Amino acid sequence: MNVTDGPVWLDGRLVDSGDAVVHLMNPSTHYGWGAYEGIRFYPGRSGPLVFRLREHVNRLFTSAQALGMRIPFTGREIVAACAELVERSGLSSGYLRPLVFLRPGVMSVAAQLDQVQVAIGCWEWAGYLPEAGGGIRVRVSGWVRSGPAQLPPSVKSTGGYLNPSLARLEAVRGGDHEAILLNQAGRVAEASAANVFAVVDGTLVTPPAEEGILPGITRDAVLTLADDLGIPTRERPLARIELRTAAEVLLAGTAMEVVAVTRLDGMPVGDERPGPVFGALRSAFDQAVSGRLPAHRDWVTAPADVLEAAPGAP
Ligand code: PMP
Repeated sequence: MNVTDGPVWLDGRLVDSGDAVVHLMNPSTHYGWGAYEGIRFYPGRSGPLVFRLREHVNRLFTSAQALGMRIPFTGREIVAACAELVERSGLSSGYLRPLVFLRPGVMSVAAQLDQVQVAIGCWEWAGYLPEAGGGIRVRVSGWVRSGPAQLPPSVKSTGGYLNPSLARLEAVRGGDHEAILLNQAGRVAEASAANVFAVVDGTLVTPPAEEGILPGITRDAVLTLADDLGIPTRERPLARIELRTAAEVLLAGTAMEVVAVTRLDGMPVGDERPGPVFGALRSAFDQAVSGRLPAHRDWVTAPADVLEAAPGAP
């Protein structure tokens, strides 16, 4: 299935993909005014399960609010819309893409922020890096992650993605899979669409929010699962050079899930194979997303349960 094939929820209605159209002369297309989320659903025992749906919807509202855009729906309505789309798609696993953007009005960089529209796409997910199982090749980008006084990385804005996109494209064109961006101080920030972890002296280290990252929902899950597994964790600034000497380097994000970095800047990481910390976390993560970890059953949502609780919600 193509991204344009699935059903689309647009401003309160489910429409066929071909009817999900907006006028090109809108300020979001021209100036990048928008907020979005990426959400995955996975096969559960009795149907698809959406991973951390409420957390993603909450972050969508926070991002929109940070941009001054008021979403003309409640969080419950967006949650219900996501559930309805999953059901309508008939897919057992896939990806949801809520997008908040502006309708055409005055064409100005000082956009009219009360003209907010919401679309949610849903499609089958073929895998971000289909060959990632054996580990991926990553480079530290020459592009620096935008800082808190530029485009705060904690806001998942559409316009803000040009910064990590430039880094990823540079990496992919150069034969690597992904890029890690440093922050304004030259320390590790994050990958183009994932958070970074390094195993340093047996501790799973990841940069804290203040280092200029999107504090990922998968990152939070990984830190929690590491605690469960008895792997020591620490949020602290991470120097670039530590990635070279770390026993393992991992990336985690909704699209990428949890992957091992086996080459960094053309050099091997650890013994150039996915390591034991990765193995333990990846297997716990796979169980969590499919609802097989009783301690974290609340991380997954069955669309039918949402729709039963809110019948007739748009
Ligand atoms: N950082 C960036 C820049 C991202 O785009 C993403 C993906 N949303 C992440 C980190 C990971 O966030 P999450 O786990 O919530 O998907």
